Amino acid sequence: MSVNLQTPIDYLKGVGPNRADLLRKELGIHTYQDLINLFPNRYIDRTQYYKINQLQRNNADVQVIGKITSFKEVAQKRGKRLVATFQDDTGTMELVWFRGQKWIKDSLKLNKTYVAFGKTNWFSSKFNMAHPELELLEDHEKNMRSAMQPVYPSTEKLNNKGITNRVINKIMQQLFIETKGRFTETLSDNLRSELKLINKQSALFNVHFPKNQELLSRAQFRLKFEELFYIQLQLIIKNLIHKSKIKGFPFNQVGTYFNSFFKNHLPFELTNAQKRVLKEIRADLGSNAQMNRLLQGDVGSGKTIVAFMSMLMALDNDFQACLMAPTEILSVQHYNGLLEWCNELNISIEILTGSTKTSKRKIIHESLENGELQILIGTHALLEDKVKFKNLGLAIIDEQHRFGVKQRSKLWKKNALPPHVLVMTATPIPRTLAMSVYGDLDISIIDELPPGRKAIKTVHRYDKNRLKVFKFIRDEIDKGRQIYIVYPLIKENEKMDYKDLMDGYESISRDFPMPKYQTSIVHGKMKPADKDYEMQRFIKGETQIMVATTVIEVGVNVPNASVMIIESAERFGLSQLHQLRGRVGRGAEQSYCILMTSHKLSANSKTRLETMVRTNDGFEIAEVDLRLRGPGDIMGTQQSGVLNLKIADIIKDNDILQLARHHAKSVLKIDPSLALPENQVFLNTYKQLSKFKNIWNYIS
Ligand code: ADP
Ligand code: MG
Repeated sequence: MSVNLQTPIDYLKGVGPNRADLLRKELGIHTYQDLINLFPNRYIDRTQYYKINQLQRNNADVQVIGKITSFKEVAQKRGKRLVATFQDDTGTMELVWFRGQKWIKDSLKLNKTYVAFGKTNWFSSKFNMAHPELELLEDHEKNMRSAMQPVYPSTEKLNNKGITNRVINKIMQQLFIETKGRFTETLSDNLRSELKLINKQSALFNVHFPKNQELLSRAQFRLKFEELFYIQLQLIIKNLIHKSKIKGFPFNQVGTYFNSFFKNHLPFELTNAQKRVLKEIRADLGSNAQMNRLLQGDVGSGKTIVAFMSMLMALDNDFQACLMAPTEILSVQHYNGLLEWCNELNISIEILTGSTKTSKRKIIHESLENGELQILIGTHALLEDKVKFKNLGLAIIDEQHRFGVKQRSKLWKKNALPPHVLVMTATPIPRTLAMSVYGDLDISIIDELPPGRKAIKTVHRYDKNRLKVFKFIRDEIDKGRQIYIVYPLIKENEKMDYKDLMDGYESISRDFPMPKYQTSIVHGKMKPADKDYEMQRFIKGETQIMVATTVIEVGVNVPNASVMIIESAERFGLSQLHQLRGRVGRGAEQSYCILMTSHKLSANSKTRLETMVRTNDGFEIAEVDLRLRGPGDIMGTQQSGVLNLKIADIIKDNDILQLARHHAKSVLKIDPSLALPENQVFLNTYKQLSKFKNIWNYIS
């Protein structure tokens, strides 16, 4: 009989209650299974030894053989540190401890030969190693050394409490002894032989105790594949269930509204991307399943007309449609934009927001319920229970990152069958990531801007160039243009940020005095009505300069604004910078984005600024963003499994992800309910999967 892998980790020889507690708290390891699935971050060569004069300033983990010749205590800001001089025949370096000094001093022996292992730092013209692993050379030589010793994820606390990498290594060995290395296979024989994947036991063994480079690579490949395969399998099944279970209203005909708009009122030729996306939407709406589609398109790519034409499809089939936007300003803009087209087509349209008067509200509620009203635009106000449609067929959500999944599902309940849902976002998600994050949404992409757009010119300027920048602003205003100046606002730093904003506003008002210049200011602490008033002044062109925090980020359209100045640009994330830049470049004039920063820039900030200067392509920017920040900060990832990846890397292992998705799809295509005997293993694993949150809790 094999050992039950759900056995609590306390039972493993060498662990005990204290260590078990730490492993649970620090690494989330509760059971034997969790421990097996603690995969090394990297491997180091423990057969190599360095002389002190061979050390490089690269922070690598190395082993050095030498003797401790003296100890000293050095006072520092808080407490003191213990420093040992460590010497070999080529030079000296320092070993440093910030904690546990007494114990260390008592247990180490002067002038005995040790092997010191750890990360080297270069400090005060000397190499040092903080909290090294030390072993007497004579003990060291008794143990077998691996050229690929795993380094496990750890935390400072674990290290401080003595659960070093060496200890984890030891308990891992113990685990393999107790389980005899027997683990249940979790991929089918077919799939394994097709892809030449090594079996589960061999993979787990070699990932923890690699026999050689080749076996290590194959072990990693197999485990990464498995991890991604089951995430994909899960997502695809979810999507299939959705499509088969949740019926939608079939919009059978393309009718008069759509055709007449297309033939007589189209204000411009649609781009190929817009046409393609409309076809995708049309196909969804014509089927029996409920549409649940994400429309991605960079700012200015023309999502609005796609939304409008989709609404016409609903109206042509005697359904109502609604469009929800995150702010009042945006709702008004949408309403004004669509009103023109609706008038031409004789379609009734209304707007409902928090500030809609009660009397007006009543009229809207009534006409919605009796079906006279065809299109409703608005904010969250649309979600209120009082808002009842006669027959809502299509709900569109603009700029989705301001809305949560909950709100999406609230819209679903606005009709007997859920309406079709189209979610539009201008925050591009890298295709690869979108695929694994939005398993339950189908995705359409507008990857082409309307013709004749002038690319926004982006430059990076230091604060000391401010006078030149002001001159540039003056020149642009003289040409009749309008200017945005945006300040960062970060919660933790709110007070300082508001001060910066107000200082900036004052200095702008001084350099651009009334009455020649008019300056607006908008920020989150203002009352909505005041914000709106200032915003409207800018939209109408009564003010030339808009000083603001990021509240203007989403969707605002002022075609005459041609310059976006971003202050302290190094403090913004890439996608936010890109969103802000998207506020300009909406009119016929050449537009500019000026990124102002101080001189001190981190490598990461430099990359962000360089990327902004180099490209206007939202998808390229999203890829860089993903590389810089990791998937954790990209919207939507929190809800998907990609964050809990234990061995695969969503970016680096993209090819494996594609492969896994391809095979998950093919398996389900032939056998959607996983009923075939050869797919039992997938079914069993999948069933386990619904029980546990973390993928690796079931894959063993
Ligand atoms: P977004 O995708 O950011 O919502 P909009 O739908 O607001 O973009 O479109 C931005 C601008 O481009 C609008 O002024 C719109 O009228 C215009 N536009 C959209 N599609 C086209 C097209 N195919 N040709 C020319 N202009 C277009
Ligand atoms: Mg828009």
